[in-house]
Amino acid sequence: MGCTAQDIIAALRAGAAVVAEHRDELIQLDREIGDADHGENMDRGFRAVIAKIETSEPETPAAALKLAATVLISTVGGASGPLYGTAFLRAASAVGDDAELDAGAVAKALQAGMEGVVARGRAEVGDKTMIDALAPAVDAAKNTAESGADGAKVLAAAAEAAHQGAQATEPLVARKGRASYLGERSAGHIDPGARSTALLLTAFAEAAGA
Ligand code: ADP
Ligand code: MG
Ligand code: MG
Repeated sequence: MGCTAQDIIAALRAGAAVVAEHRDELIQLDREIGDADHGENMDRGFRAVIAKIETSEPETPAAALKLAATVLISTVGGASGPLYGTAFLRAASAVGDDAELDAGAVAKALQAGMEGVVARGRAEVGDKTMIDALAPAVDAAKNTAESGADGAKVLAAAAEAAHQGAQATEPLVARKGRASYLGERSAGHIDPGARSTALLLTAFAEAAGA
């Protein structure tokens, strides 16, 4: 069975839970190389997404993804709101009107999301941003989908790669976003947005039953 609107809603709930649980950690990471609000931004945004889901009950995967996008864009101040919002919006467009997504569609949605973040933020791999988690996640997702695995395994592989990518941001010097203002002093810290991307993908994979 493929991924339905209800599965996307469950994934968003799991995402909201993991962001709430790691709120302080994300704030601390952002304190080191930014303005100490990433945990607060993400927590506020995902709480608002869940609140909106309660009242509007999206009926297709695309509608659920689009809801997340519009709420994140409108409630999260800071760079991460529009970036994550664009990712969800592009993922929504990529899945079209399908009622159920197979593993290939899940991988394609993830890729479209990443391309949205790149279109919006112009970051490349190695710039010490969420792209350093997303890009390897997309590669892993595509490879896993091509091997015939189900959507949960695709997300699990993406999450694993995202965690490695996030960890690998530690020695990097930031070239995009607020952390880039620190120049060389941004090295030695994990990028908060890469960390939140990895956490979200793990939550999505677990919600999918991986
Ligand atoms: P702000 O920096 O406005 O306070 P947040 O703290 O919520 O916003 O988010 C910061 C995160 O956003 C960074 O850790 C980084 O991962 C991500 N980010 C910032 N600029 C870009 C960009 N141009 N492209 C991709 N990701 C970016
Ligand atoms: Mg910040
Ligand atoms: Mg800020």
